[in-house]
Amino acid sequence: MYKTKGNSKPNLLRFILLLGVISFMLIGCDHPKKNYEPTPTPDTVTLGKTSHMSPDDINSLSTDENKMMTTIEKICVTPRPIGSNEEKAVYRNLKLELESYGYNTEVQEFPYILQTLKLKNTPFQTGNFFDFTIGEPEGTSQNLIAIKKPAAPDSQDIIIVSAHYDTTIHSTGAIDNASGVAVLMEIARQIANYSIQREVRFILFSGEENYLYGSRYYVSKLTDNERQHIIANLNLDCIGEEGTNEAILGTSNGRENEVSKLFANYDIEIQKGPMSDFFSFEKVGIPALTITQYPTMDENGKDLPDEISRINKTKLKVVADTVAKVLLVQLTTDQ
Ligand SMILES: [Zn+2]
Repeated sequence: MYKTKGNSKPNLLRFILLLGVISFMLIGCDHPKKNYEPTPTPDTVTLGKTSHMSPDDINSLSTDENKMMTTIEKICVTPRPIGSNEEKAVYRNLKLELESYGYNTEVQEFPYILQTLKLKNTPFQTGNFFDFTIGEPEGTSQNLIAIKKPAAPDSQDIIIVSAHYDTTIHSTGAIDNASGVAVLMEIARQIANYSIQREVRFILFSGEENYLYGSRYYVSKLTDNERQHIIANLNLDCIGEEGTNEAILGTSNGRENEVSKLFANYDIEIQKGPMSDFFSFEKVGIPALTITQYPTMDENGKDLPDEISRINKTKLKVVADTVAKVLLVQLTTDQ
C-alpha cells in the first residue's frame, strides 16, 4: 500500500516508538534471562520442557486410599522372603492385577545367593556391587515389570517407579514394604488412563532385604541404551506409618538431585535416605531417590511393630497423590 504525505506524522511517531523498543531490548539484554521468564505454575516443574497437561488436569488426579489399604491387607498374610512360596504367590497376584489395569508385564527371573552380614564377600564390603558369583545359589526369585509405552513412537526417555515386595523372614511387612507396593499399584492404575509421551516402567523388586538383590540384578542387565535413557528412578519404601515422622525424599547424600527437583512445588523434605533399591540405579549414574519414612521408635529406641494397624491411610494418600502428580507431569512432557 502507498504511503501518503498525510501519514508522515504517525509514521514518525511509529519510528520513534520503534527506536524506543529497540533500545529497551538492547539495554534489557544486560539482565539475566530469568527475569523475563514467567513464574512456573505449580505442578508443571518438568525436566526441561512443558507438560501437555494443565495444572487443573494434574490436580484432578486423586488416588484411592481404601484401594491401597486393600492391597496391603492382601499382601500381608505371611512373611515373603526371597525365593519363598509366599513371595511367589504375592508376585503372581500382583501380576494379574497389573494386567487387569491394561499393562503388559514381564517377569525377570534370577538365581540368588543369600547374603548375610556373616558372609564376608557381601557386595557392600567388597565393592563388587554387581557381582553375583560369590557363594552358591539358593534358588530363584523374580522381579515383576509392567511397562506403558509412550504414544510418540520416537520417544526414548524412560522413568522407573519401583518398590520391593519381599520381606525379611521375621515380618509380614505391612509398612516395609506392602505400603510402597500399594502406592505403586495405585499410581499404575491411575496412570493407565492417560496418553503419555515418555515410557514408564513400574517394577516390583524382590530381594531388597537381601542386599538389594533384585534391583542390583535388574540394573546389571540393562543395555547401554536403556541406561542412557532412564531419566529417573522413583523408589517407594515404607510409607504411611502412624506417628510424627513424615515422608521424605531420600537421596544418597541428603542433597538435592535431578529427581528431587521435580518435587519443588510440594512440601516434602530432602534428607539422606536409608538403603533401598534406588541405590542400585544411582550406582550407575541414573538420577534416583527413595520416598520413605524413617521408622517411629519407642522410648527405648526400638522400632514399633510393623503392622497394618499402624498404617495411616491419609498419610498413604498424600504420598500417593504427590508421586502420581509429579510422575504424570513428567510422562506427559515432550522430550
Ligand atoms: Zn524396605
